[in-house]
Amino acid sequence: MIDTIVIGAGIAGITAARLLRQAGQNVVILEARDRIGGRMWTDRDAGFPVDRGASWIHGLIGNPLTPLVESLKIRTLEFTVGAYQAGGRPISNFDANNEPLDTRRTDAWLEDASMADELLADAIAASAPGTNYAHAVERAVAAFDADAARKRQVHDFLHHRTEEQCGAESSEVDAHGLDEDIIEGDEVVFPDGYDALPRMLAEGLDIRLGRVVKTVERTTAGVRVRTESESFDAAHVVVTVPLGVLKAGDIDFDPPLPETITAAIGRIGMGVFNKIFLRFPERFWADGVYAIRQLGSPSHPWHSWYDVSAISGEPMLLTFAGGAWGREIESMDDEDIVDSVVTSLRRMYGNAVPSPVAHWITRWGADEFSRGSYSYIAVGASHNDHDAIAEPVADVLHFAGEATYGAEPATVHGALLSGHRAAERILGRTVPLKTLPGTQHAPR
Ligand SMILES: Cc1cc2nc3c(=O)[nH]c(=O)nc-3n(C[C@H](O)[C@H](O)[C@H](O)COP(=O)(O)OP(=O)(O)OC[C@H]3O[C@@H](n4cnc5c(N)ncnc54)[C@H](O)[C@@H]3O)c2cc1C
Repeated sequence: MIDTIVIGAGIAGITAARLLRQAGQNVVILEARDRIGGRMWTDRDAGFPVDRGASWIHGLIGNPLTPLVESLKIRTLEFTVGAYQAGGRPISNFDANNEPLDTRRTDAWLEDASMADELLADAIAASAPGTNYAHAVERAVAAFDADAARKRQVHDFLHHRTEEQCGAESSEVDAHGLDEDIIEGDEVVFPDGYDALPRMLAEGLDIRLGRVVKTVERTTAGVRVRTESESFDAAHVVVTVPLGVLKAGDIDFDPPLPETITAAIGRIGMGVFNKIFLRFPERFWADGVYAIRQLGSPSHPWHSWYDVSAISGEPMLLTFAGGAWGREIESMDDEDIVDSVVTSLRRMYGNAVPSPVAHWITRWGADEFSRGSYSYIAVGASHNDHDAIAEPVADVLHFAGEATYGAEPATVHGALLSGHRAAERILGRTVPLKTLPGTQHAPR
């Protein structure tokens, strides 16, 4: 007899399964893909790791991933530019005329960006629920006492933030949508690939790959979960499929989910945020910079490039396409996307930019087992909606996953904490998270 079925072998599902198994439960994970990790996906085809999904721990202080990664001895590399910072680490900025900013102008830009952030915080605090982030940005820019060029720079910079942080346009995001988005401490990336974490936590678990769950049916004894060709009975189920999959109605729930859950699924947005890695034959940007940033009107559609050469050992830049542009590139050919990125880089660096020798492009919106990149607080939604999805149904059906964790949605650590919460609810007692890397217990 299975105690708990977990649907989805991303970090939320693996965390829940591992904690339940360590508590002596018989747990089976059903995963649609032919790999584990979900949105933690390290591509090693080129002989070095390329993280197509998550890359960063966003803020080491107070983050449950920090002690976990340390105890598992997973190598990390400091890279504190993962949360769309204007400064803090060296960045090569270019103005609207594609001229590089010297030290004096960089300092002036950083002061402008910091002032704009203060004005934006005031505008957000004064924003009624149900108003959008774009409106708050416009109010902040109007209050910013500067000439038209400086206003335009802060305007575009602030608007791009929701594309990266939410995978959505600022007009789609609630004014309070980034209130919880606070980074404490440095950020790090994974020189050996972020998927080391789900892989290590998954060791010894009963994971059935290639199992696309179609229905979740509550029965008198608990739950019956069906794929196209199999059926599994258990006392509990933890559903960790991404919000995009829930929104699309790809899994049929019988009886239907309570209105409190379906309404919350409807209100929260699923953003699209794609990555484009370009490997160059040689480096054309300055040594020692973490990122390259285009400011002002030429910052559409490409604005930020991150130097990820230290991970691959090759000259490599990573740029992002989020929101409407992120959706649009998914129907473009790879060559057109690469040409478009290179054209933007050549505006700044001229012919010093060689043609890339390799590229990696994600299309998370079209991915049928994700249907988007991560959740965001759409206009009219709130962080309570995330937690509402996770309210247990009849003590049998539990949801977990990044979109169900209101305090830290859209992150790896939020997903992990949601899996921990589901495990504790099923066990009916607290389980210290620090036991997670502990020894596996044999099933009963
Ligand atoms: C491009 C990108 C960059 C990101 N960058 C960062 C970052 O730097 N730092 C950070 O903290 N977070 C980042 N995130 C977010 C982070 O990756 C996610 O929040 C986290 O990995 C989600 O974990 P999860 O377990 O909730 O969901 P998932 O990892 O998506 O796991 C859900 C699993 O359910 C499976 N599934 C779906 N449908 C079915 C079905 N019908 N039957 C069975 N299985 C099914 C899926 O295949 C998947 O394996 C990024 C995400 C993306 C896409």
